[in-house]
Amino acid sequence: MDDKLMLMIPGPTPVPEAALLALAKHPIGHRTSEFSNLLAEVTQNLKWLHQTESDVLMLTTSGTGAVEAGIINFLSPGDRVLIGCNGKFGDRWAEVAQAYSLQVEKITAEWGQPLDPQLFQEKLEADTEKQIKAVIITHSETSTGVLNDLETINRYVKQHGEALMIVDAVTSLGAVNLPMDTWGLDVVASGSQKGYMIPPGLGFVAVSPKAWEAYKTAKLPRYYLDLGKYRKATAKNTTPFTPPVNLIVALHATLRMMQAEGLESIFTRHQRLMNATRAAIKGLNLPLLTADSCASHAITAVAPSSVEAEQIRAIMKKQFDIALAGGQDHLKGKIFRIGHLGFVSERDILSAIASLEVALRELGYEGFTPGSGVAAAARVFAQS
Ligand SMILES: *Cc1c(COP(=O)(O)O)cnc(C)c1O
Repeated sequence: MDDKLMLMIPGPTPVPEAALLALAKHPIGHRTSEFSNLLAEVTQNLKWLHQTESDVLMLTTSGTGAVEAGIINFLSPGDRVLIGCNGKFGDRWAEVAQAYSLQVEKITAEWGQPLDPQLFQEKLEADTEKQIKAVIITHSETSTGVLNDLETINRYVKQHGEALMIVDAVTSLGAVNLPMDTWGLDVVASGSQKGYMIPPGLGFVAVSPKAWEAYKTAKLPRYYLDLGKYRKATAKNTTPFTPPVNLIVALHATLRMMQAEGLESIFTRHQRLMNATRAAIKGLNLPLLTADSCASHAITAVAPSSVEAEQIRAIMKKQFDIALAGGQDHLKGKIFRIGHLGFVSERDILSAIASLEVALRELGYEGFTPGSGVAAAARVFAQS
């Protein structure tokens, strides 16, 4: 049967009907008062989502463009930066920083393990000459499903005083509490195809006053990604270049949905989706890649040993039209990942787990009592 695709990859994520309908409309001109009014409301709601009074700017890029903008606008060639590397995305930011001639120091952890905040503390405390200009962290490392302890790492960055805290929040924003102003984060970058519940194409960068200070003296080259241009335009409810107008109309709709649900409820929902997914995987006696203490609220990685991850994914897609993600780089073929980010409900998790049970049986895996995955998820959902 066609048209039943259920995306359970960590982006693009499912899109609600209100956003799909917005995408089907005729584009409107971006230099019209109609669009300006829409943009004004979107900008306000983006601040609400980021829990900030600072600027939140919208770029026509994927998430990588947003993070790149968040790095290059505030630094100069040769600046020393600490980068947390415990997965594909952390590694990517080290590559971006190297491409721009920053002096990169990686702080690493095994894929599947969280970054150790102590290692950041040591480097930052030893830097009495304040040469470290930024610390770059991937909050939710999508490649492994690890939620890094940003709050603690950021506390050490604040104690250092000079370094900017730059955050890849692509799969944490809209899933887990990320109070930009309360914590004092300087740059928070994200992308539309994750927690925003719209298709790919927009990047977002929130910028603190301290980061704007650094912007004034930052010397890395920038043009299309020059955030100053976006700041000026946004203040006048317009954009420096032609934006993807339909995506922004769709975003207007999903931000309203998010406001109606409320931040607390959104975070609680994601936590329940995560808890149920993890309980189900344990109920099926399949190994989780990450510990409960550092689990991402957006994505759960499973590392099956006696069944092939890729065969599970193939059956899930073919028989149930449920798209799961595979592993990246050296985890390719070793794990599969279940996305539960954005427009995802408890029903989606129950369907996915029940379908997974069928797939496991077809593959001859007998390590579980039939129904034990669904039962474990049901126990989490019945708990209120
Ligand atoms: C999806 C994602 C990105 C952005 O990837 P794009 O393909 O450029 O949108 C960045 N960081 C994390 C953690 C992600 O999950």
